[in-house]
Amino acid sequence: MQVHDSLVELMGNTPLLRLRKVTGGTGGAQVLAKVEYFNPGGSVKDRIAVRMVDAAEREGLLRPGGTIVEPTSGNTGVGLAIVAQERGYRCVFVCPDKVAKDKTDVLKAYGAEVVICPTAVAPDHPESYYSVSDRLAAEIPGAWKPNQYVNPNNPLSHYETTGPEIWEQTEGKITHFVAGIGTGGTISGTGRYLKEVSGGRVQIVGADPEGSVYSGGTGRPYLTEGVGEDIWPETYDREICDRVIAVSDKDSFTMTRRLAREEALLVGGSCGMAVVAALRVAAEAPDDAVIVVLLPDGGRGYLSKIFNDEWMQSYGFLSAAGQEEPTVGEV
Ligand code: PMP
Repeated sequence: MQVHDSLVELMGNTPLLRLRKVTGGTGGAQVLAKVEYFNPGGSVKDRIAVRMVDAAEREGLLRPGGTIVEPTSGNTGVGLAIVAQERGYRCVFVCPDKVAKDKTDVLKAYGAEVVICPTAVAPDHPESYYSVSDRLAAEIPGAWKPNQYVNPNNPLSHYETTGPEIWEQTEGKITHFVAGIGTGGTISGTGRYLKEVSGGRVQIVGADPEGSVYSGGTGRPYLTEGVGEDIWPETYDREICDRVIAVSDKDSFTMTRRLAREEALLVGGSCGMAVVAALRVAAEAPDDAVIVVLLPDGGRGYLSKIFNDEWMQSYGFLSAAGQEEPTVGEV
């Protein structure tokens, strides 16, 4: 019988899909999407969840009956909740209030507890989601905080899985790797592997919301979730990116909607952002370029925002007529 005993076994090994429609006008470069919503938890973060828990168990930081406490915008929480459920741990997640309610409801559906904190406070403020998670991790007996912003197993999981998968799937033909930067784990781990295996040939391109520090911003707020930072996390390796491209919320969300309507890829806002950056790379790259862009999650958690016309109009991202303004040609 072809049966898996555990969802955890099904994490990783996601497909590469050629983008055909949104790439119009970018010449011959191929743009291939690594579609991470095929993970059982629906996002790239399953990869880091299992790697961080395995390491904590090995190191004796997480013991039977323990509690996982983590500040997460949702996706890491889902991955951790799946691993925790299989292995009998309790989960408490701390989320900033800009995260869509649909996403925190998903965490609760897996049986996790969720604590919501204000987005508009400094990271060292006692009510920030960083501070609250530290306090809970100290107060709850048997608590372990994976801390995806400093845990080396975050980038390591991508060095060990995402990078090798992409190299094998493209038979070593990849020329550019494009990914959004949140903790920086994806781009740092995958990028390091691809640089090493190709002898430095593969170009690594970060995608970042306008305003975030990675692309030279001050950390001012933006709406794209899961990416961008106002601090420099330890999991981001500054040696890896050859280039970081800043993308506006409007361009990210417009592309996210186009991916759903033109490629039938119902994905999240950071995916639209990464694709905008990938198309900018494609527009300048030679015809034989093979550009891989990583799409971190699915779009169901954003139905009330990016895929809602009134919400888009309220920020001026969509005209009152509901027509999407084109980004191809402008990017
Ligand atoms: N997009 C989304 C939706 C995410 O949740 C994350 C993780 N924070 C990222 C992109 C960025 O990935 P990383 O943390 O590996 O840089």
